Amino acid sequence: MLDPNTVLSSVFGFDSFRPAQERIVRRVLGIGGERGHALVLMPTGGGKSLCYQVPALCMEGGTLVVSPLIALMQDQVDTLRRRNAAAAFINSTVSREERESRLEAFVAGRIKLLYVTPERFRKPEFVERIRAARVELLAVDEAHCISEWGHDFRPDYSRLGEFRKLIGDPITIALTATATPDVQQDIIAKLGLVPDDVLLVHRGIDRPNLRLEAEEIFDEKMKFEVLRSVLGTYNGSGIIYFSLIQTLERFSQMLADKGHRHGVYHGRLQSGPRRAVQRRFLRGEQDLILATNAFGMGIDKPDIRFIVHAEVPASIESYYQEIGRAGRDGQDSLCMLLYSQEDLAIQMDFIKWSNPNAGFYARLFGILEGTGGDINTLGPEYLREQLNFKNRRDFRLETALGMLDRYGVTEGTLDDRDLRVVAELPPQLEDEERMEEKLERDNRKLLSMVQYFRGESCRRVFVEKYFGFHDEKPCGNCDRCDANGFS
Ligand code: ADP
Ligand code: MG
Repeated sequence: MLDPNTVLSSVFGFDSFRPAQERIVRRVLGIGGERGHALVLMPTGGGKSLCYQVPALCMEGGTLVVSPLIALMQDQVDTLRRRNAAAAFINSTVSREERESRLEAFVAGRIKLLYVTPERFRKPEFVERIRAARVELLAVDEAHCISEWGHDFRPDYSRLGEFRKLIGDPITIALTATATPDVQQDIIAKLGLVPDDVLLVHRGIDRPNLRLEAEEIFDEKMKFEVLRSVLGTYNGSGIIYFSLIQTLERFSQMLADKGHRHGVYHGRLQSGPRRAVQRRFLRGEQDLILATNAFGMGIDKPDIRFIVHAEVPASIESYYQEIGRAGRDGQDSLCMLLYSQEDLAIQMDFIKWSNPNAGFYARLFGILEGTGGDINTLGPEYLREQLNFKNRRDFRLETALGMLDRYGVTEGTLDDRDLRVVAELPPQLEDEERMEEKLERDNRKLLSMVQYFRGESCRRVFVEKYFGFHDEKPCGNCDRCDANGFS
């Protein structure tokens, strides 16, 4: 076995592990103790990848990395290959011959790290082939996707436990930026692990330079004034997050009128302009971005000085993720939540639309089956009419189509005009009770944002408790600590 510190410097060019990384690497490799599994909770940019990449390059056997995002997978593999590490990926963008040759190389041990999407395990030929390999480590990235209670459930992920058994119960490392205690438990259980065998490593908001503040807002005029005062106080890069594109656009106009130059980023923009905005921000050519939560993936910029939430986010999980992008360089940075009761109503609608009920799925499925291929010419407007939408922002249809795709009920998309039904509705999408439970959980998550705002004690302590960690001390760098005399 190679020495992890040597691999860290020779392959990655870093001098030292971050403390959490070191604990995980030692655990997975069995240095100074027995080898074992780990569940890693670390904010985005915290350095999760190294926690399995270094062990993978130290070990004899291969490492299988499960990741849901094709773009990120490609990026990681490119980076590894540039450093002469034997890595490859297999997903739907790779041709059949190429897939086979990569699998072959992994089985033969010429590839040490193989990245795959969870959909791969649907293919018996893949599972058969991979069983011939010596998988010494299974790394599950974005592990919250395993849990129905997480914010990004992917049915294929929930079968990973089954698959893990098939490949001989390898040492497993699950990684995520956010998981509440119930999601943590769910991840462990769904992977077929026992809690006592899993080392839980949590980094929390480990940046004392982040200042947490929240302010109650009573109308839009006040919101605008608070925003302008932040812009006047904090120099450097910043992001203002909005829930609604419509509100974002209104504020964009108002800010422009006052001479605040900025870029905007949201899901309704074409991917070209969106990428351009991101690039300009990363390069420091554009300091201020107004964005929806679509902005953030791959935002690894050290000097973000402020993150303002102009509207209440859906959960502490999302809030924690989004503020984790500030102040990576250790310099003072502000994380400001603008709280208004009116905005809660928006989030309650979002929650409703993210959780269509069983009846909705049944109706949608019925229409898709009934119209067959014609649905691609009839288009989404037809579906929305049939399903009786009153509110034009209602996105239940998008949610439900996404779920049908994730469950493998449909293939293709309406956009590409090749949507088709290929399987029956699974029992999970007919189970009204579970769906109601999910809806209720989502509402409770939103309630936690209210409690975060209303809470009288340290904001950081509140967030840590929410994730199940109870020994955080008052931070001395939030508005509550100021008021309570901790500073
Ligand atoms: P995550 O997956 O947690 O979002 P990444 O693994 O992508 O984070 O790492 C984020 C950044 O931190 C990367 O640019 C990576 O090179 C850097 N990084 C990670 N570990 C270290 C380290 N020990 N020393 C220096 N830089 C590191
Ligand atoms: Mg990552």
